[in-house]
Amino acid sequence: MRYCASCGSEYRDDIEQCSDCPGSPRLVEASEMSRRGLPLPHELDQRVFARAGTTDNPLMVEVFTGMLEERDIPVLVRAGRSGVVDKLTTGNLLPWWEILVPEEMRERAALLIERERAQEAATTDEAVRAAEEEERETERSSPPPPAF
Ligand SMILES: [Zn+2]
Repeated sequence: MRYCASCGSEYRDDIEQCSDCPGSPRLVEASEMSRRGLPLPHELDQRVFARAGTTDNPLMVEVFTGMLEERDIPVLVRAGRSGVVDKLTTGNLLPWWEILVPEEMRERAALLIERERAQEAATTDEAVRAAEEEERETERSSPPPPAF
């Protein structure tokens, strides 16, 4: 059996990548799972993993897991479906992901995720402000639009 180090799913030996996770991560052996402190599916009932956060942004899934792994917090990502149908584009259910960590690390992980999320939002705000600033600059230098 092979395993996804991101969501903990079990796969047949001939499968190479996880189909549930953003970025389709490569599957690993059981030994690699235990090296990273991640439970195998049949061990999950003994080890309690709790939800530290959720996101519907696949990029943030990678940011969060990378950030938690850097701090030696084992992290599993569970793919879910929100039940909100994306009518405008595909008609499919919108995906979202649950970030799971060991129960005893949940509080710390949740704080880290919130901090990361706030930082990300600030960066986006800054980018928006910069773009608006640039727009105003452009407006100032170009002739006023014709009045109707
Ligand atoms: Zn996976």
